[in-house]
Amino acid sequence: MPCYLLHFSEPYKHAKHYLGTAEDLAARLAQHRAGHAARLTQVVVEAGIQLALVRTWPGGRTQERQLKRQKNGPRLCPVCHPTPGAEAQAASSQLARGLAHEG
Ligand SMILES: [Zn+2]
Repeated sequence: MPCYLLHFSEPYKHAKHYLGTAEDLAARLAQHRAGHAARLTQVVVEAGIQLALVRTWPGGRTQERQLKRQKNGPRLCPVCHPTPGAEAQAASSQLARGLAHEG
């Protein structure tokens, strides 16, 4: 089950990212945007903040626990911290193209 990182278009209090796991990322993202996925993203959406899927990992719950333990969402985020990693750049530009079509 892939892990994913959501980047908020504006900070909500001290939160600017949400890290989670989902089998179907597109469906999960739709749930987040509808306010049905997590308490944090629900209040974020209600505040008028946009959610962007900026990064995914293949590792599932173990990976999610490791990533959360690091508490470095901003550093993991290619929007907040662009990295020279070609793979990450390709993934984020693919996602950006995909998201552009969602309006
Ligand atoms: Zn970010």
